Amino acid sequence: KLVKDILSRPAVVGTIKMSITEASRILIENNINHLPIVDEKEMLSGIITSWDIAKAMAQDIGSISEIMTKSVLCATPDETIDMAARKMSRNNISGLPIVDSNNMVVGVVSAEDISKLIGRTG
Ligand code: SAM
Repeated sequence: KLVKDILSRPAVVGTIKMSITEASRILIENNINHLPIVDEKEMLSGIITSWDIAKAMAQDIGSISEIMTKSVLCATPDETIDMAARKMSRNNISGLPIVDSNNMVVGVVSAEDISKLIGRTG
């Protein structure tokens, strides 16, 4: 099985210019925990999770670009789910933005998506 078989689409993304409150709302309204952040050209430039928002609150930080993780670990639609799962567990993260060859975000795969898949088939 490949990443593209379980990709949540359309990609829910945030932008560098949005407020932390807006980003929090997107996470809650979509029931997700990973928000890839894109720049004006819609290129991936970071990722935030609820953990980053908690950190922003704890440290009184006010902007997305200050709290987002800038070196984002990604996967591509044609990678195997196995490879994506290994990337997550090795790096202690629970979600990967899926990017195409132009670095455009096409979706997100989370550890939850993978465990659901295993729960269904196993
Ligand atoms: N294990 C928990 C989890 O997976 O959410 C918490 C620890 S994890 C180190 C939390 C940090 O990882 C956050 O600062 C978040 O921005 C970052 N993070 C989450 N997904 C990421 C990804 N795909 N690439 C890089 N950093 C990521």
